[in-house]
Amino acid sequence: MEPHSNNPSPAIPDIPLQLAGQPTIGGLAAPWTTGRTPDGRYRFGAVDLDRHNRAMNEKLCQTCGTTLDTRLVFAMRDSDLRSLTSHEPAMHPVCAAYAATACPMLAGRMIHYRATSLAGQLADLGVSSHGDPTDTRAGSAAEPWQLVWASGYRVYTHPRTKLLAAMVLPEQILRVRRIGDNPRQGGEQRPDCSIDPSESETPR
Ligand SMILES: [Zn+2]
Repeated sequence: MEPHSNNPSPAIPDIPLQLAGQPTIGGLAAPWTTGRTPDGRYRFGAVDLDRHNRAMNEKLCQTCGTTLDTRLVFAMRDSDLRSLTSHEPAMHPVCAAYAATACPMLAGRMIHYRATSLAGQLADLGVSSHGDPTDTRAGSAAEPWQLVWASGYRVYTHPRTKLLAAMVLPEQILRVRRIGDNPRQGGEQRPDCSIDPSESETPR
C-alpha cells in the first residue's frame, strides 16, 4: 500500500475485484459482516452477528465473506494487540488494504486521532484501553490501529463482550503495520516490540 499521501481530501478508493459484488454505501464497499437497519439498508458500524460468528468459526474474510488464505490480516488497536485479541474477523491482505483506506472506522479514526493529541497520548499509554469494552469501543477513535498479518488464530468467547473473538499467538504474528501515517511511530514495527505476552488475557 502507498504511504499516506498529502491529498487533503482523499478520494474514494477503487473497489478491488475481490469486493466487486459487495453492496456499497456512498461508493465504499460494505464489509460482508455489515449489519442492516430494520428497513434493510446496510449501515457501517452495525454488525451482522450471524455472519460475524460464521466468519470467525469458518475462517472467512469479514470484508468479502470468502475463505481466508494462509496469510490473514487483522485490524487491531494497541489494546487488542496487547491482549493478542481481535474482536473482528480476519481479512485477506487485499481486503485489509482496502479496508484501511476505505473503512470509515479505520480511515476516519486516524483523522480523529491526529486531531485529539491528548487522547492519542493517553491511548499510547494504554490509559483508555482498560475497563468496559463498550467504553473502549466508544473511545476507539483516539486509539491507533494496526494491520496485523498472521498465520492463524484461535476462536474463543471473549469474557467481557461474550462475543466470539480471535486470539493470535505471538508466534502466529508475521508483521505489524500501523494504519495511516503516524510520524511519531514510523511505519514498520517489530511485533515483539509491541507485545508483552505477560499482559495477554487468558481465554476461559
Ligand atoms: Zn476478503
